[in-house]
Amino acid sequence: MPLPTLPPSAAGLLPQGRIAFRRFGIYEEDLAIDFAGSDTPALITRLLEQCAQDPEGQLPPGFFRELSAGKRLECLLILAAGPQRPAFSFPFGCAACGEELELELTLEEISSLQQQADQIEAIEVELGGQRVAFRKPKGRDQEDWARTIFQDEGEAARAMLGALAVRGTTAEALDSLAFDRVDKAMDEADPLVNLVCQVSCDACGEQNNLSIDLCETALGMLSRLQKQLILTVHRLASHYHWSEKEIFATPHWRRNEYLELIAAGRHS
Ligand SMILES: [Zn+2]
Repeated sequence: MPLPTLPPSAAGLLPQGRIAFRRFGIYEEDLAIDFAGSDTPALITRLLEQCAQDPEGQLPPGFFRELSAGKRLECLLILAAGPQRPAFSFPFGCAACGEELELELTLEEISSLQQQADQIEAIEVELGGQRVAFRKPKGRDQEDWARTIFQDEGEAARAMLGALAVRGTTAEALDSLAFDRVDKAMDEADPLVNLVCQVSCDACGEQNNLSIDLCETALGMLSRLQKQLILTVHRLASHYHWSEKEIFATPHWRRNEYLELIAAGRHS
């Protein structure tokens, strides 16, 4: 599966087309990922690094940490969708009449949103009478913040915006109103992170604003792929009495053939 189109600032880092993602949920190392941990940014980095196929060693160290939060989400959704790339579906109830509705998003739509966002490298917000420029958070910022214990939300906001300010100072000008304004501008510049979709209801015409957590969606799908792999190991081990080592020495496509035989109840 190809990597997404890289933003202008990162495009020069990689030789085009040489590095791809393998599918998740077929190798032994995929069992070692702990989806229950609380450090989500580190989990995302690990998944992307583990599934990046780089036979010529061309991927710069820490490459996925340097991508924006939105770009990392796009990569994670490519892994979650796998080679068949089905659309992501989000069922929900209409806020006005309760009608059961469903929003479908394709990987192409998600990538197109992200590619537009990639054109914006920094945002500017007026704070305390001066224009302050902020860059968008990267994976390494999210990893740092996930490991820091902040006293309260105010301290967290000041630390985060202080780290992201590229021009102008933020220290005095930051009250909660200012923080909300920066937050809103960030959401617009990196729409996948807190995605909101407008969906009108077929039954009553209501415009629903649907908030979608793409990170939770992708991690949920990947965690289910891991559970399927555990089930595969369990079935093959129970049926043929193979060790985990023997099972993983068998290629994925052949494991599937054995599983089909087991399911069909063939004993000879
Ligand atoms: Zn409705």
